[in-house]
Amino acid sequence: MDASLELCWACGDAITDHIIRALERAYHLSCFTCTTCKRQIGEQAFAQGEVGEVYCLQDYYRKYAPKCSACNQLIIPQEDGTDSYTVECLGRSYHENCYRCQVCAIQLSPEPNEHGCYPLDGKMLCKPCHLNLASGQH
Ligand SMILES: [Zn+2]
Ligand SMILES: [Zn+2]
Ligand SMILES: [Zn+2]
Ligand SMILES: [Zn+2]
Repeated sequence: MDASLELCWACGDAITDHIIRALERAYHLSCFTCTTCKRQIGEQAFAQGEVGEVYCLQDYYRKYAPKCSACNQLIIPQEDGTDSYTVECLGRSYHENCYRCQVCAIQLSPEPNEHGCYPLDGKMLCKPCHLNLASGQH
């Protein structure tokens, strides 16, 4: 066997044809497949799950994407990169668009500024609602 041939990380055989390089490993084209749907990933975008697990993006998001605590949909970046921002607050994840005050439903800013989240008793609140509720507590 030609010692210069690289071994496939998945099956351990030498790679004599097209090498897929990913995650600093080498794979046969036919061995570099999505863990879930078994499709060949080739040169397409992919994501890494547990060690050695590779997923096409769709399956990766289905398995690993955080779920929005407001609308219960997965938070999956759009192909064009818009609305991919995940806001984390109080240990939960939200779509940027779902990150709203739980009292008046105004959209909150993910930035820690005037329009950001002012949580109170585990509720996400805008600043005015926070002040309202806080002053109503005795
Ligand atoms: Zn292989
Ligand atoms: Zn897949
Ligand atoms: Zn949502
Ligand atoms: Zn509010």
